[in-house]
Amino acid sequence: MEQAAHLTMGTTSTWLFLAALVVGLGVFLYVFYYRLQIMLLGGSDNRFELLKTRIWYTIKYAFGQARMPDELSAGILHILIFVGFMTLSIRTIVIFGQGFGGTAFSIYGIPVLGYYLGPIYAALKELVVIGVLIGCAGFAWRRIVSKPVRMQNIPVVEPVLILTWISGLMVADIFLEAGLHAMGFHEEGFIKTVPGLGSLVAPLFNEDNGKTVWEIGVWAHSVMILIFLNYLPFGKHFHIITAIPNVFFANLNPYGRLRPILDIEERFEKMDQDPNVSIGYKNVEQYAWKEILDFYSCTECGRCVPFCPAWATQKPLSLKRVNKESKHHMYERAPYLLGKKVGPDGKAAEYEGPQTAGGAIEKETIWACTLCRDCEERCPVLIEQVPRIVDLRRHLVMMEGDIPSELNNTFRGWERNSNPWSLGYDKRGEWITEDLGVQTLAENADVDYLFYVGCMGSFDDRSTRVTKALCKILKAAGVRFGVLGMEEQCCGETARRLGNEFLGQMLVKANIETMQNYKVKKVICFCPHCFNTLKNEYADFGMKFEEVWHAADFVAKLLRDGKIKVKADGLGDVAFHDPCFLGRYNGVYEAPRDLLKAAGATVRDPSLARHRSFCCGAGGGRMWMEEAKPRVNDMRFKEIMDTTGGPKLIGVSCPYCLTMILDGSKNANMEDNVKIKDVLELVAERLDTGADA
Ligand code: SF4
Ligand code: SF4
Repeated sequence: MEQAAHLTMGTTSTWLFLAALVVGLGVFLYVFYYRLQIMLLGGSDNRFELLKTRIWYTIKYAFGQARMPDELSAGILHILIFVGFMTLSIRTIVIFGQGFGGTAFSIYGIPVLGYYLGPIYAALKELVVIGVLIGCAGFAWRRIVSKPVRMQNIPVVEPVLILTWISGLMVADIFLEAGLHAMGFHEEGFIKTVPGLGSLVAPLFNEDNGKTVWEIGVWAHSVMILIFLNYLPFGKHFHIITAIPNVFFANLNPYGRLRPILDIEERFEKMDQDPNVSIGYKNVEQYAWKEILDFYSCTECGRCVPFCPAWATQKPLSLKRVNKESKHHMYERAPYLLGKKVGPDGKAAEYEGPQTAGGAIEKETIWACTLCRDCEERCPVLIEQVPRIVDLRRHLVMMEGDIPSELNNTFRGWERNSNPWSLGYDKRGEWITEDLGVQTLAENADVDYLFYVGCMGSFDDRSTRVTKALCKILKAAGVRFGVLGMEEQCCGETARRLGNEFLGQMLVKANIETMQNYKVKKVICFCPHCFNTLKNEYADFGMKFEEVWHAADFVAKLLRDGKIKVKADGLGDVAFHDPCFLGRYNGVYEAPRDLLKAAGATVRDPSLARHRSFCCGAGGGRMWMEEAKPRVNDMRFKEIMDTTGGPKLIGVSCPYCLTMILDGSKNANMEDNVKIKDVLELVAERLDTGADA
């Protein structure tokens, strides 16, 4: 067949096309600008440093969809649709071009380079169209029929409409191609060999009606795109525009570093005179701009929901929920904040609804979070939860004095005696028995390492056994170390995460002063909470250590370096529970397992292990709060037992986890069946001192 001449839409159609484009894009830009204004209401946050890492994150997590395959079937379906959007965005430009210039603009998909790269693109595009249709069908099946846990009890209508719309775009493309085939385009070159859906449908049409089919395809595609574009900012599909920048501006600081309020004392001083000075987030417009971009970017996919320890135990919290509540509240408040609501007196109206902290976002939600970061680790678009929750707590605690009643004594304990039980501060070193041969820095400051013991390791009976186990190991290895004894203060980690930034900083600064007096450079901690804050946060307050070690990591190194020997005595199956602040926050996964193996254990990982570990329920200060049943620790204990074949021993590497998992075993009446031990205890019990030789 002879190649058809180039087609055009006709003058009237072209003018109509122009009108549709101007109106469609104009309305979109107006709404988009409004959303941008809302985002710029947020507080400052420098997210422009480390550009190379940002570009790499964008390639890996946005374009590479790195977290999508974590859930295989949904991930593959999403990747099919994402690749479709990327590929077909070029197609959309071409179709708009054809609306004005006809097929002369390009029939292959890539203007100018059409003759060379166009056919390759066209072939790829045909595959992509099929992939997108499979993706849409798969998602519709999940939403309507199979309904996995995270798809339950959520609206179906909007997602199904969107899937129908995406499928409609593909169908328009197929008919557009069919029209071109029917008129004799695509009869030459590489494109002829591409078995696209358009060529399959083409026999339904002929040279006479092919042009009408092509025109309908061009119009249908263009109108659907413009309608969709204008719908995006109003629903969760706004993420199609915001997700890529959201990944680019992701948090690149250590996960374990809370934003410090360095001018907290000045703020307290100015507060009486200036009502604009505040601490924490009272309202959503105080969120940093990136946190507003975060909730714009939430796809509501629900990946963050099922393994959130709070949600799993029926508390009113998930990352998705906080995103939705923040967004709706922002949309309610924004017209007032931007002066778009006028009162009867003609002046800007005041918003009279609830505040965000404790109002639009309930207190139960804010306090339920264990700050475990499981949600952040699962979120495909790298949305953050921890800083926002802590800032909402900061407002409640420091501006309103609105504190869960059980925390009053805990805060008082830290204030008066630097420990959460308010035990005498001078009793902090009472665990040091003579047989340990441990000295304080006051007695001997000529050491290489400070062993920072922490509140649990100093006062809690069960945890002091771990403290002593570590001392025994360090002594056996000949490590020159000392402790602070009664000069040590609480590390401040938990007070800060409970929103009491002032108290937390007070504890941090007191420790820093003592450590600087002794010229401490290297520290070992066995509590991951102390470890995290000394490693990632003390520098914000002026203390830069040369080395901060978690004890499991340090002892694993002693073992590798041959400084200690451990008798492997056939411990058998031992399940290991990864503490959130050791694993997810600081990436220490292998060291505790290495110690278990050295002690002769066969390590059994629960189904939720390593970066997917399920929290014990104590993080974020929840250790010191009441919890209604069902409890997180009970759920975790059961999950460990059920998925590791019911071992006789569970290894942990954190005093909070030790307490919580132990309580879980007691609540399940299994205390006598299964022992819970810190890996350091297992090593200390098996130290090969050569005494038997
Ligand atoms: S926060 Fe992230 S994981 Fe959770 S629903 Fe939104 S996009 Fe999905
Ligand atoms: S940090 Fe943990 S407890 Fe808090 S919302 Fe995320 S998953 Fe839930």
